[in-house]
Amino acid sequence: MQYDVNKIREDFPILARSVYGKPLVYLDNGATTQKPRCVVESITDEYYSVNANVHRGVHFLSQQATNLHEASRETVRRFINARSISEIVFTRGTTESINLVASSFADSQMKEGDEVIVSVMEHHSNIVSWQLQAARKGIVLKVIPMNDRGELLLDEYKKLFSEKTKLVSVAHVSNVLGTINPVKDMIAFAHSQGVPVLVDGAQSIPHMKVDVQDLDADFYVFSGHKVYGPTGIGVLYGKEAWLDKLPPYQGGGEMIKNVSFEKTTFNELPFKFEAGTPDYIGSTALAKALDYVSAIGMDNIFAYEHGLTQYAMNRLKEIPGMRILGEAEQKGGVISFLVGDIHHFDMGTLLDRLGIAVRTGHHCAEPLMHRLGIEGTVRASLGLYNTKEEIDALVEGVLRVSRMFA
Ligand code: PLP
Repeated sequence: MQYDVNKIREDFPILARSVYGKPLVYLDNGATTQKPRCVVESITDEYYSVNANVHRGVHFLSQQATNLHEASRETVRRFINARSISEIVFTRGTTESINLVASSFADSQMKEGDEVIVSVMEHHSNIVSWQLQAARKGIVLKVIPMNDRGELLLDEYKKLFSEKTKLVSVAHVSNVLGTINPVKDMIAFAHSQGVPVLVDGAQSIPHMKVDVQDLDADFYVFSGHKVYGPTGIGVLYGKEAWLDKLPPYQGGGEMIKNVSFEKTTFNELPFKFEAGTPDYIGSTALAKALDYVSAIGMDNIFAYEHGLTQYAMNRLKEIPGMRILGEAEQKGGVISFLVGDIHHFDMGTLLDRLGIAVRTGHHCAEPLMHRLGIEGTVRASLGLYNTKEEIDALVEGVLRVSRMFA
């Protein structure tokens, strides 16, 4: 298939706007992606013509809304190749998905002194969720170190396992370094030790084909808004055998079968984990987003973004004083950098005045910043609609800011 980026851009009205009189160059896709027309229209269409609460209604609209919501679950299942829709839990996003597993897993599967392995490059959501459980249950975090290119040290990983290891929880792609971690191999090793694995797919799902059965992940989590879908909805995939074992995370409507003051029984999967009115408008729009990227083809998106990342890395390296953080052999379209001693915040603010949206700071990965010995970086993160011309604009912008500080 011919990858027609200009045609793709037409699907995203926001990309045509200007900022401070300059054409918008949106390079903050790691934080959130822009939305194609079909996603935005799905939201207004459903509110205008279908809206009704799902699952409990006998009336026409409720059944139509329920059908849309459950069809979206099937779309998610197909997208990540889960075995069954019972394994697809809708949540508010990656953060809630991790907190759900951390809470329910720690409650039912862990005791004081038990260990969870995470990596040094985790997002705070995959650190603090476990620290909360550590404080509550006395469990211990073990940390996989990395080399200076930003690659996890797999020999060290293997040494971290003990009879107390109960779970590995690791990012598929780093939101700072862009490193694509070898999660399939890491899962295979963990399983050889009898340990299940949660994969944080927030930064992988938008950029590559993910097959949870092929990876053999026990849990896989992601956010809708990072894959061109709406905010406020995300996914927890869990193997049915695991989800069956875990207790509910929150109590309320939807997640129960029968309630009395003496005894309550819980609903079947996946509803056991979906207390309260679900974001059924969001689930339909998320399914539209997944259909949208599927129509382009995840392998095509990966190949296109890979080429663009290579181009961006090469061009950025032409800049005097450029320091790129994260040069893993397997690297996605997340490029963190610093130039000379220009503060990342100054660089980001001045780039913004040129219409270039990048992110600055610690990117919710302070332990990784400590490992790198820095406070923060400038981060350009690519999406399926970015172009070489936008990379050129970034390079020109960085050069211009550098000259100002020279
Ligand atoms: N994990 C990673 C690797 C991320 O990059 C992010 C967001 O940037 C998250 C988790 C949290 O995602 P959310 O804020 O959508 O829950």
